[in-house]
Amino acid sequence: MHPIHTTRSTLQMTLLLGALAMLGCGDGDPDASVDAGVDAVDPEDDSGSSDGVCENTSQGMSPEHFFAGSVAEEIVEEDCTLTNGVETTCYRVVAAGEPTNHELTTVCPRTIEDEATGFWNIDGQSVDVDGPFIVSLATVFDDPSWQMYDPDTGKVFVTETAEECLAAGGMPLDPGYANYCVECTLEHIGGAMTIEYLIPTRPVMADEPTELAQLAPGVSLNGVQFEFPADIDTIESGLQIAPIDVCGGHVNFNIGYHYHEELGCIGGVEQCDGHAALIGYARDGFGIYEMTDENGEEPADLDPCRGHTDDARGYHYHALGVGENAIIGCLSGVPVEGGGGMGPGGGPPGM
Ligand SMILES: [Zn+2]
Ligand SMILES: [Zn+2]
Repeated sequence: MHPIHTTRSTLQMTLLLGALAMLGCGDGDPDASVDAGVDAVDPEDDSGSSDGVCENTSQGMSPEHFFAGSVAEEIVEEDCTLTNGVETTCYRVVAAGEPTNHELTTVCPRTIEDEATGFWNIDGQSVDVDGPFIVSLATVFDDPSWQMYDPDTGKVFVTETAEECLAAGGMPLDPGYANYCVECTLEHIGGAMTIEYLIPTRPVMADEPTELAQLAPGVSLNGVQFEFPADIDTIESGLQIAPIDVCGGHVNFNIGYHYHEELGCIGGVEQCDGHAALIGYARDGFGIYEMTDENGEEPADLDPCRGHTDDARGYHYHALGVGENAIIGCLSGVPVEGGGGMGPGGGPPGM
């Protein structure tokens, strides 16, 4: 049986620490790199959480919390209409579509000997996608149709070109790409895709929550889309897997790089009272915070959308964790009619 884990694996921690180390030494100005997650305006500014600076953020979006380089255009305010018909004002956020503070990595092993750099969810649990996992697929799914490697050479079938990324990652699934580990890169899609959102400046609670099955939950402070859950069953029905990386993201040709899970790479705005850090905003305007506070505790009073209210921050969400294939549970607030979250490719991708 392949090892299955529900907490962050040693591999994830190792890769994450490696990525952080790269950030610290791969840049001409290491201070700017470390602090890039704090100041939306001036990357040279020395203030930031790593220096002990903190802020108890208030309810709703503050444009200055987006990290330097995370937006492709200045965030502006404009008129918008909520899905309940109310006319209000919104921030127009054009996310850069590429994380400001971590590298993108491969997600599929190249041979059945390789160690994992990506993760897949099996029955709601995160599994390391290493060579032995690829070999075990027929057993895992109890179906001999799974044969994602060449038994003579041990080579794993991985999408290697833009054409293969497009064909394998599309819906409906191309049967010619059964038994592929789907891995797309920003090079395959011509670089990062900017994603536009209209986010209410004054979030309002809805009478009923909005499902996020086909609706992007929001955007991270480091410039990446929080995507709705990957359609794992459909992907597997085509004898494919489309792993996520150590940061919970991967690339598809519809919206580029996006997160399906929050695995601790985003950083965020540290809260002075020890509450979990702010990592992004939901499309209804409420903030999204990390799962746990500075003591590793998860709030006990979260609603099904993963939200609750406190005196400092008003209503806000706490992210789900590893193996959840989702960022938050649903939207408690009213989103904007046509509020974005789509790339130039348009329709919803499966992966
Ligand atoms: Zn909270
Ligand atoms: Zn995806």
